[in-house]
Order: sequence, then C-alpha cells, then structure tokens
Amino acid sequence: MSTDLDLDSKIALLMSLAAEDREGGPGRDPSMPLPPRLRHATEVGALRPFNLRTVRSSGPRAQKTTLLRILMTNACSFNCHYCPMRRDREMPRTLLKPEELVRVFLAARARGWCEGLFITTGIPGRPVKVMDDLITVLELLRDKHRFTGYIHVKILPGVEQAQVERITALATRVSVNLEAACGEHLTRIAPEKNLATTLTTLEQARSLVMHGRAEAAAGKPADALRPGGRAGMTMQLVVGATPDSDRTIVGKIAELYAGGGIHHSQFSAFRPIRDTPMEDVRATPALREFRLYQADHLMRAYGFGADELAFDDGGNLPLTLDPKVAWALAHPELFPVEVRTASPTRLLRVPGIGPASARRLVAERGQTTLRGLADLRKLGVITSRAAGFLTLGGRRLQTTRWSEQLGFWRAEDEIGAPHIMYDVSPGTFR
Ligand code: SF4
Repeated sequence: MSTDLDLDSKIALLMSLAAEDREGGPGRDPSMPLPPRLRHATEVGALRPFNLRTVRSSGPRAQKTTLLRILMTNACSFNCHYCPMRRDREMPRTLLKPEELVRVFLAARARGWCEGLFITTGIPGRPVKVMDDLITVLELLRDKHRFTGYIHVKILPGVEQAQVERITALATRVSVNLEAACGEHLTRIAPEKNLATTLTTLEQARSLVMHGRAEAAAGKPADALRPGGRAGMTMQLVVGATPDSDRTIVGKIAELYAGGGIHHSQFSAFRPIRDTPMEDVRATPALREFRLYQADHLMRAYGFGADELAFDDGGNLPLTLDPKVAWALAHPELFPVEVRTASPTRLLRVPGIGPASARRLVAERGQTTLRGLADLRKLGVITSRAAGFLTLGGRRLQTTRWSEQLGFWRAEDEIGAPHIMYDVSPGTFR
C-alpha cells in the first residue's frame, strides 16, 4: 500500500479491492461453480488485507451486519506449511498500527461501507505483543470513539489469561483458529503450533462468554461498550491440509460445542500455495468445505449428533449427497414420515423440511387439512427433496427418493487438479 496516498484515496483503493467473503453452496449457474468465498481465489487481490463479510445476528430480531474484515498485518514469525504469509515465503509485508486500523475502519464506516469490524492478523514476533495491539484497537474504538457496534476479533493461542479477559470483554465475538482437529497432524503442518495450547486459550475465552451469558440471564443490563463476546465464539479449521477425516473433524467440533458458548465453526478448504512446502499437495474440493458446513448446521440447528451422520468408508461425508439426504437414505426404516401426525422432531429429520417449515406444518395441520404438495410448498417445504420421504393421509407423495440435484455441478468439476497452484488463499487467515 502506498504511503503517499491521503486517507480518502487509500480507503477508496482498498475498498475497490474488497469483495464478498460469504460462505455458501456452489452456484447453480455453471459459470459460477464455486461457493461465493472461493470464486476469486486466483485473482490478484484475493490476499487483500480488506474484505467485506456479512453476518446475521441470531434470535427473533435477526439482523444483517456488514463487517469490514481487516488483516492487521500479513507479516508472521510462524512458518505454517500451508500459509501464504509464512515466515520463509518471499512477499511484500505490510502492517497497520492500531491507530491506523481504527482510522481506516471509522472512515469506511462513515462512508456507509460497513457497520462492524472483523480483525484478523499474522503474528510478527511474540503473540502477547500482537495481542496487546489488538486490545489497543478495541480500547480505542470502545473507550475513545464510543463505538458500540459489532467487533469480531481473533484471539491468538497461548496469550496471557489477562489478555483473553480484556479482549473478550471488549469484543462482540471472539474466535480461535484450531486449524486441525488432531494435535499430531497440526504439528506436522504448523511446527510452532500446539493444539493443546490452542484449546487452553479457547477454554479461557469460553468460560468468560458463558459467565457473561449467565449474568445476562440473571438480569444484568447489557453494556454495548463491553459486550463480553455475547455473540458466541467461533473456531476455524483448514480442511484437507491434514489427513483428518470429516468424521474426526465433526467429532472434534461436536465435543467442543458440548461445552457451550461456541456459535459455529468455519471451514477453509485447503489450497496449495506457490513457494510453500505444500505447493504440490492437491487442493481440497470446495464441495467438501460445503458439506462440512451442512453437517455443522445439522448438528447445531437440527439436533443431529456427530455419530449419526453418514460417512463413507474413508470417514468422509459423501461429496455427492447433502448430509441430511445421506442420513435419510441410510435409514429407510424411519421413512416415509406421515405429515399429518408426525412429531416436530420427526418432521425436522425429513430432507427439505427445516425448523421454520416444521413449525409451520405443525401449526397449519392443526387448523386445516393439508391436501398435497402445493400446500406443503406454501409452508416452506422444499418438496423436490421432501416428497419421496413423506406420506399425506397415508398416500405416498412421490415414489422415488430425492438423491441430489447438483446436475449443474459435479465433484469432479472442482478446481484443484494437482498441477494447479495458487499464489493466494482466501482461507488461511480467516
Ligand atoms: S497460519 Fe497464521 S500463524 Fe501460521 S504462518 Fe499463517 S498467519 Fe502465521
């Protein structure tokens, strides 16, 4: 970034490089076969330090908030094998001081480009020093500028307990990057990292989030300048950089969810980066990342246990099947489900029926007689998926069970042939 530019020009330049950082499924349009986040993975600017991310708050009054995602620095003393910012890789490095980062964010917000902030960073030098800079950013925003909006910040593993307490008090959401589900595998791709240390930091933050929630439940008034991580934590894993199977990954996150305080997980499909020790390793299909998001959603919103999901012989979620469909096809003894009498829990297990449509079905069937697919569609049921798994008044709605309708997009379409290498990766510093 040129230092000759005035702030207006600098922000205009940075924002011209910003793009969406949205998770999601592969596009139905054949020209857009990748999830939104990976669509620009090979373009100049994908390693940009600025990006936009939209988050939706949970609860009955869910709102969308656009966050400016800022990479505080792409300098790093660590040497993770998969990361474009690793110490031994030649690349231009840049760093925003806390005051600069705050000025850029406030200026971008004043222009209406974002409402909140998401800060991530490389680790140049000691993690405790970098953490102090992050804390300074949040203190400036909360205490000097009285910013009461959404701030999501990464906590670096192994920092001091007092730092975890300070940053969690100031942030709306804190997150910890696990990178891998297995400690031994993590050390192979990130020699300076230690999963046990990461989990200790995660537990320190988690107990603070849980304590804050308990206080809120007991009636303590909310303090917008000290939200205490009330949006819940997140954790991130790089998928495919280690031999960890989906079963291992899903089992690990389920174990961590059980302790409470964690809102969701983020998965980043591995991409081989030029001039790294893993440049010859095959890219992980974007579809695998998407299947893990679906499985994660099934566990958090549908009550699925990790051990209930259907895995293939290698312990992975089938790429060609939505995990809920894969589960339903593996349990023919539980289907068809009768729409007029099934419990909400049974309805929720039917592919094509989500929590909202299950609620509407139960409410509507108490007042009226549901007669066919058109009635179900009006209540939000995706009948192209659900019909083969349902009966209505004892009548089958469709004889064939939906398997997967990804005619536009096949697993083998995935980018990531072994000879393709990337200079940038949109996933390694999420
Ligand atoms: S993954 Fe994080 S710690 Fe590892 S080299 Fe990249 S920025 Fe540094």
